[in-house]
Amino acid sequence: MKPTIVIGGGIVGLFTAYFLQKEGEEVIVIDKGDMEENCSTGNAGMVVPSHIVPLASPGMISKGISWMLSSKSPFYIQPRLDKKLIEWCLLFYRNSNSKHVQKSIPFLKGISLFSKQLYMEFIAEHDNGNINFQDRGLLMLYKSREGENEEIEFSHLAKKSGIEVEVLGKEDIRKLEPHQEVDVRGGIFFPDDAHLSPKDLYQYLKQYLVKNGVVLKSGVRITGFEKGADKVKAVITSEGKIDCKQVMVCAGSWSGEIAKMLGFKLPMMGGKGYSFVLPNNPQLMQSSILTEARVSQSPYGEKVRFGGTMEISNKADHVNLNRVKGIFESIKAYYPEFKAEFPQEDQIWKGMRPCSPDGLPYIGKAPKWKNVAFGAGHSMMGLSLAPATGKILADLGKGKEGEVKLEGFAVDRYAR
Ligand SMILES: Cc1cc2nc3c(=O)[nH]c(=O)nc-3n(C[C@H](O)[C@H](O)[C@H](O)COP(=O)(O)OP(=O)(O)OC[C@H]3O[C@@H](n4cnc5c(N)ncnc54)[C@H](O)[C@@H]3O)c2cc1C
Repeated sequence: MKPTIVIGGGIVGLFTAYFLQKEGEEVIVIDKGDMEENCSTGNAGMVVPSHIVPLASPGMISKGISWMLSSKSPFYIQPRLDKKLIEWCLLFYRNSNSKHVQKSIPFLKGISLFSKQLYMEFIAEHDNGNINFQDRGLLMLYKSREGENEEIEFSHLAKKSGIEVEVLGKEDIRKLEPHQEVDVRGGIFFPDDAHLSPKDLYQYLKQYLVKNGVVLKSGVRITGFEKGADKVKAVITSEGKIDCKQVMVCAGSWSGEIAKMLGFKLPMMGGKGYSFVLPNNPQLMQSSILTEARVSQSPYGEKVRFGGTMEISNKADHVNLNRVKGIFESIKAYYPEFKAEFPQEDQIWKGMRPCSPDGLPYIGKAPKWKNVAFGAGHSMMGLSLAPATGKILADLGKGKEGEVKLEGFAVDRYAR
């Protein structure tokens, strides 16, 4: 039996391998990196069926422009004369409207709920898998009147779409965070959201896959394909050619480069974010988003991870300390009693979110190639949507139709 090749060993690639292996496929995961650190290992770990609005939405453009003026703001586009960036920005601009949001909601809702269900099944099957899964909901905190208006408006939209949501005042928030003051006007609570430890999940999955016969090849780069009339016959790697039955492309923010090798366009940019872990003192209990600062806070008992910023940049390795300071300073603004010391530079994690220009992932068959499918471009929701994406790709590989509607995620929507 020829193997199925999964390109990219991030969380989407690993869950794809997981479901393919369950279907009895022989699977090889190939990753150019070390499979120790990538965008999937230091994120906020939030599983968010509440996130039904794509990044490209009304107000993002005006907010983005005002944020561009501050070195500590949560959003930045590194200006440069780059055709790929200009095309991406134009598409993002065209998609940032309420019609696009309305059109996207049913697709995002369908896949998000399916993914949460798969997480629950995964946890039951693996007896928790030591991934620190906490099914305790997500709190969106706001300090300003403007933030309140925005979040309440979002809560109406969520409710209308059948997502459970509660509007909380200061007293309710005190009950969720009994150990310290939370300096906010209020918050929106999504009880069905959850969070987990992304690094523990990643390590657990790797061990499970290897134990179950999946081959993980790190430090190996895909450089091209050997193509037949309408099928890919082999992948060409930095270490030679591997014949294959089919290919699943889960290459995160680099997936556009793989599409180019296959002869079509898949607009994608990296949206860099940072995170760091601090001692959790006084202890935060509830995972939250500090909405005006666009900062996430995920508690794991004695430790807590803060993360944020979105820099549309091609410098994957560079740490912009000013933006990390922006994240750090927001901690005291929301939790004035929290004892925080600025992290050492080598303790700052960075990751490139794979961002499509409409905020929707690309999931499904590739144009022209019958045995190639893509699962990429999940932006801020890759961990949350990874199980669903993996299951959908494994089903597609077997010619099975799943229950999730995929039209909104069409891989060829910008292909030309
Ligand atoms: C600060 C921050 C917080 C976040 N918080 C959350 C959250 O709470 N919840 C959530 O759902 N999401 C969150 N995200 C987003 C999430 O981390 C990403 O969407 C997700 O990790 C993307 O996973 P991936 O597998 O698609 O990509 P990646 O993890 O980037 O993996 C892609 C892999 O493909 C490999 N690759 C690329 N090209 C090649 C090639 N040519 N040959 C071989 N290998 C190749 C790369 O080396 C890489 O390992 C956050 C992101 C950031 C930055």
